[in-house]
Amino acid sequence: MATARILDFLADRRPASPCLVLDLEVVRENYASFRRALPDAAIYYAVKANPDPQILSLLAELGSCFDTASVPEIDMALAAGAGPERISFGNTIKKERDIAAAHERGVSLFAVDSVGEVEKIARAAPGARVFCRILTDGAGAEWPLSRKFGCDPEMAVDVLLRAHELGLRAYGVSFHVGSQQCNVDGWDEALGQSAVIFRRMAEHGIQLGMVNLGGGFPTRYLKDIPEMTAYGQGIARAISRHFGNAIPETIIEPGRGMVGDAGVIKAEVVLVSRKHADDDVRWVYLDIGKFGGLAETMEEAIRYPILTPHDGGEMAPCIIAGPTCDSADVLYEKTPYMLPIALTIGDEVLIDKAGAYTTTYSSVGFNGFPPLKYYVI
Ligand SMILES: *Cc1c(COP(=O)(O)O)cnc(C)c1O
Repeated sequence: MATARILDFLADRRPASPCLVLDLEVVRENYASFRRALPDAAIYYAVKANPDPQILSLLAELGSCFDTASVPEIDMALAAGAGPERISFGNTIKKERDIAAAHERGVSLFAVDSVGEVEKIARAAPGARVFCRILTDGAGAEWPLSRKFGCDPEMAVDVLLRAHELGLRAYGVSFHVGSQQCNVDGWDEALGQSAVIFRRMAEHGIQLGMVNLGGGFPTRYLKDIPEMTAYGQGIARAISRHFGNAIPETIIEPGRGMVGDAGVIKAEVVLVSRKHADDDVRWVYLDIGKFGGLAETMEEAIRYPILTPHDGGEMAPCIIAGPTCDSADVLYEKTPYMLPIALTIGDEVLIDKAGAYTTTYSSVGFNGFPPLKYYVI
């Protein structure tokens, strides 16, 4: 969101383009809004969305826990002031020596989706709590997460039974309904499957305690999205439908929903051109593209709002591309983007809602372009 603080910072400091400016006050508000909408769920911020130390420190101070995917992310969460009891190692694909390193640091909550991973954890982090991730189809999500993570719910029972046999604490079930999930009932089906796993485990005498609802909470890009309270209500309805009075402990792992709307990228128009004298569609080349941090424009999945100095004027369709020499560095082409006709070389534009999945996605120097600079204010 181009907040007054961000606009003032850009006006006063005139930082070189491209750069991201992120307003911590928006992160603070987002945390409060998750708290209000899902008062019973523990919040585990998904560090990968934006691992900036100031963001992590603010969230640690507000009481957040952290979902991490590697030892360096665990160390960042610890450095921000979270104790190991507030950290989950949520990646289902870990080296055994990294599990051991997490265990040494006191982390005791791990994600699994296979017997092979359970066996590594039993060896490297004896006695730890594990939750098994189940597959979801990602319906309703604009950035679905494919079949890379999670196993079939039937198999999850075997995975959790094996964990129990090996002396681990079979603790719960997790899933991720796909990022930018626009359906407030998108959690219902996976919660139904989780409840079945709880019952199957109870038949074996094992009480699971926790359901990890993952991330998926959206950022308002160009399309409108439901309010956070509607997500809270949708999830509460689904939990009571499937679990009745035996409500489990719940965890959410927001990434995008926590930081997406907190950041704005200042960028510059490098060239406006046509490929043929009669073309109606212009090409607009910016000084940032897929390799400068806008990787989520892959398949044109995430459509960022773009603010220009000519907003309100007459618009025409444009193809938007980045500055590198890779022909894949095109942001929007299949569905051209409407931009003002007056837009011209040298204009400054703001790519809005760019606080999540940008800084760490930018390449380290492809074509000599440096990683995306950013300011947290
Ligand atoms: C990336 C990720 C998240 C965050 O997802 P968002 O859609 O950004 O909220 C949460 N949990 C896990 C396990 C993840 O990998």
